[in-house]
Amino acid sequence: MTQAKDLTHLLSQEALSRNPSRLKSAFKYYSQEGMSFLGGGLPLPDYFPFDKIIAEVPTPGFANGIGAKITDADKTVIEINKRAHDNDPQDKHIELARSLQYGFTEGHTELVEFLKEHTRMIHNVPYKNWNLITSVGSTEGWESTLRTFVNRGDSILVEEYTFASALETAHAQGINTIPVPMDSEGLIPDALATVLDGWTGPKPKLLYTICTGQNPTGSSLSTERRHQIYEIAKKHDILIIEDEPYYFLQMETYTRDKALRESKKVHSHEEFVKAMVPSFISIDTEGRVIRLDSFSKVLAPGIRIGWIVGQDNLLERFTRYHEVSIQNPSGIAQSLTNGVLQKWGQPGYLDWLIGLRAEYTHKRDVAIDAMVENFPEEVVSYVAPVAGMFFAFNIDASKHPKFVELGSDPLKIELLIYEQAIKQGSLMIPGSWFKADGQSNPPQKHLVENPRTKTEFFFRGTYAAIPLDELKRGIEKFGKAIKIEFGLI
Ligand code: PMP
Ligand code: PLP
Repeated sequence: MTQAKDLTHLLSQEALSRNPSRLKSAFKYYSQEGMSFLGGGLPLPDYFPFDKIIAEVPTPGFANGIGAKITDADKTVIEINKRAHDNDPQDKHIELARSLQYGFTEGHTELVEFLKEHTRMIHNVPYKNWNLITSVGSTEGWESTLRTFVNRGDSILVEEYTFASALETAHAQGINTIPVPMDSEGLIPDALATVLDGWTGPKPKLLYTICTGQNPTGSSLSTERRHQIYEIAKKHDILIIEDEPYYFLQMETYTRDKALRESKKVHSHEEFVKAMVPSFISIDTEGRVIRLDSFSKVLAPGIRIGWIVGQDNLLERFTRYHEVSIQNPSGIAQSLTNGVLQKWGQPGYLDWLIGLRAEYTHKRDVAIDAMVENFPEEVVSYVAPVAGMFFAFNIDASKHPKFVELGSDPLKIELLIYEQAIKQGSLMIPGSWFKADGQSNPPQKHLVENPRTKTEFFFRGTYAAIPLDELKRGIEKFGKAIKIEFGLI
């Protein structure tokens, strides 16, 4: 394995302006034996009112499914005391006196080591000096990524339809978001190459991609496309930012045959790890991928802990930013999350993720079965998602009786369907709400228009957060709305 390439020329002016804190540099002497440390403005842990936190969580292998109510028989109790000497060293707890104190911007050692081991197992990053630091979730990870690499007025590349909050983060920093066309399998490598080959002026420094279970299209990039995109990134010297909160919501492929479904299930840890699509960071020999990971979709969003994986000298710039912004994810969150993960161990955490996979596969199957039953094939098309919380379906606006009368504008038909569906009592989000549109300064001549948008539009639905009978009913009502609008009933 080699060292990552030096990519510090891609840092932003803001990142280059950050100096290490002199106060923080003195902290390495804090725990040095014999040192009377009068240097820190730290409150005394004796005055922290939290003496112990206790959590009850289910026990791996989660035999009744991961959503089952915890019973006395399968309960694991996590108990974290204020003082290290009150904790069992085997538990590798982050005692409250430490987690609730200042310090450890990168994240507490026990949690970071757990995440590193997990990252080694899943991604096996192919260069030497990779590292990870904690974040307050991918929202914060993305915000700090932009600050670290992009200057006001610069352009970045994004998927044609993308997470609206990610666009807002960029726009608030005065960054242009340039869309790259997608199809049902996600970002199109050729379109990315066309945009970059024809670029005039300073190149975009990065591509932002939600490559697995994409929000909002539900698409996932194939291994082949990931390799193609990585090669393009190398050629044009850009970073790839993979925002992957849905990575572990990968599912079995959809099959209509219900009898076959059980036989496709992943059971063992080896099968599970092997079934994961390779991440960008797993093919990143040069160190040009920044991976944003998050516990939000696999444990709980309110934990507000994520982690950023990348080469160490770029992550160092994130740490300097975190020192003056978030400092670190909440100490309570770190102690609790680490407590659960250490108790479960790597195998138990994989059991949890395997359980999630089964849950999401089932929900996705119910949603697609209902779409097959209720959506008119003449006008609706879709690809069953293989990851994430979202399904999307395309509607052929040109088949709408009023398409020409309404100026051949698919978005007018999209609005009619949206309103009709609400009338029928079902709400999904119009795809156009996620459209990235941007122009760089100076304007580019080689931006690619997706020809499909002239006649097609899509809606985004989710199967994640709704009871299954309501999911079916919602899809049935939406199907009725489409049929009414297209004069099919
Ligand atoms: N502002 C001032 C003036 C401070 O002295 C400190 C703590 N030393 C902070 C802000 C940091 O506060 P917090 O821990 O709430 O981020
Ligand atoms: N990135 C994407 C693509 C998302 O869809 C979401 C969740 O809605 C987030 C980030 C937010 O993640 P976090 O809770 O880790 O900030």
